[in-house]
Amino acid sequence: MLNVSRPSATSGADELFGGLLAPGFDRRTCLSRYQSPHYYKHSPYAPSPHLLQKLRDYEARHRKCGPGTPLYAKSVDHLRSGSSSSTEDDECNYVVWIPYNGLGNRMLSLLSTFLYALLTGRVLLVQSTDDFTDLFCEPFPGGTWALPPDFPVADMSRLGARSNESYGNLLDDKKISNDLAKATAQSVPPYVYLHLAHDLRRSDRRFYCNDDQLVLAKVNWLLLQNDFYFVPALYDMAEFEGELRRLFPAMESVAHLLGRYLFHPSNSVWGMITRYYHSYLAQAEERIGVQIRMFSWASIPVDDMYDQIMACSRQEHILPDVDGDEANTTSAAANGSSKSKAILIASLRAEYYERIKSTYYEHAAEGGGGVGVFQPSHEEKQTMGQRSHNQKALAEIYLLSFSDVLLTTGISTFGYMSSSLAGLRPTMLMIAKDHKVPETPCVRAMSMEPCFHMTPDVKCHGKEVNKEELSRHVKECEDVPKGMKWIKGIKLVD
Ligand code: GDP
Repeated sequence: MLNVSRPSATSGADELFGGLLAPGFDRRTCLSRYQSPHYYKHSPYAPSPHLLQKLRDYEARHRKCGPGTPLYAKSVDHLRSGSSSSTEDDECNYVVWIPYNGLGNRMLSLLSTFLYALLTGRVLLVQSTDDFTDLFCEPFPGGTWALPPDFPVADMSRLGARSNESYGNLLDDKKISNDLAKATAQSVPPYVYLHLAHDLRRSDRRFYCNDDQLVLAKVNWLLLQNDFYFVPALYDMAEFEGELRRLFPAMESVAHLLGRYLFHPSNSVWGMITRYYHSYLAQAEERIGVQIRMFSWASIPVDDMYDQIMACSRQEHILPDVDGDEANTTSAAANGSSKSKAILIASLRAEYYERIKSTYYEHAAEGGGGVGVFQPSHEEKQTMGQRSHNQKALAEIYLLSFSDVLLTTGISTFGYMSSSLAGLRPTMLMIAKDHKVPETPCVRAMSMEPCFHMTPDVKCHGKEVNKEELSRHVKECEDVPKGMKWIKGIKLVD
């Protein structure tokens, strides 16, 4: 009989993550908030006192300015009237996050936007599309982060690189000036759309310039659409760098701490996670998470991918080795001398699971410990706009994050998010180039931080961003996810 009420392993875990989470929520409305700390196997970084203070200040601001408050109503009235209100007229300023792309991309982009809100004194609101509801609990005490449906900017899903109200187009059309002397609080529009998704244009990239940030600071409402982790670019702006270093003395801890602060699976998703965990994973002495993502632009045959996974596993000692001598293993199994292991596979396809499962059915594991192989779902293909598909993806990101050891796929934001939540530096499978199996099957990541997938190659007021350094960063992060993960030579770890 399974005991589902008491998680195994770390039952003495600090349920508020060392003060990272504020107390006082109704436990029943968000079970994961109080229960998830018992499931994580690693918590390598404690939040700094400065981060804790910043989060408590943020929560107070959200309560004061969030939807349903008089200050929110006032700001929305200004926006509706189109009057040139600015941060000088309004006590509260906002950044509205617009969901875009897969779930891993969304979580990393939302997390980055939250950090941007912390740094700029704004309130974070989230456009709740149907496929983004019932995934997460409300993260802030005493207020909602959901943008009310009567928000006056109509049809936000139409916003894109071509929209007139994008920062890039406003600059190009001279409707806003990024010259601080000219951009007065009265001259800026009531809202600016920041198009920071992967198809952003050159002038949109000016968001990453320090002087442009000083201008944007005067705009009451920012609407932001983006699909990747942009925290490394914030470190590159003088306006934010010092504060970031105070908030996160260990640069590697940003996504780890903010992920655990911000994301709490809804009760429906948490039910999926805990039912699966207790049915298949809890009894094992070691849990190994394996995330296999095949990108269409880097696909290789299933057999080759399986061989790559096995080569990686032998190189980095991830999956248990198989023993050719049955006599050794059956006696070890009989006297229970080896650790039992559960291998959790996350993949859109079932083939890798089938092969790995067969391997441990047909051959004994060295040392004789029992090996279970499990895969919660195989959705076959990525589907956009479907809530149940996203719920399964979220459940698997969390199940992976409860692993003792992680093998993920390089470049995948799904994998990045699992590692950051887990507080683990994963081993990463290398991505095929020109559909050829990579010579090095995988590398050990030197950080649990997600890679930055873009080069902000803009000229910031005459100061050329060091392109060589930046492209080296992007290249190394994608091709060899072990080196520099940050732009402009800031290394996470030596
Ligand atoms: P990325 O494309 O690997 O960076 O990750 P994203 O999460 O942004 O997008 C991939 C999407 O495909 C996910 O959000 C899921 O919808 C789906 N997907 C990919 N891999 C898996 C998997 O292992 N399990 C499940 N359930 N869904 C997956």
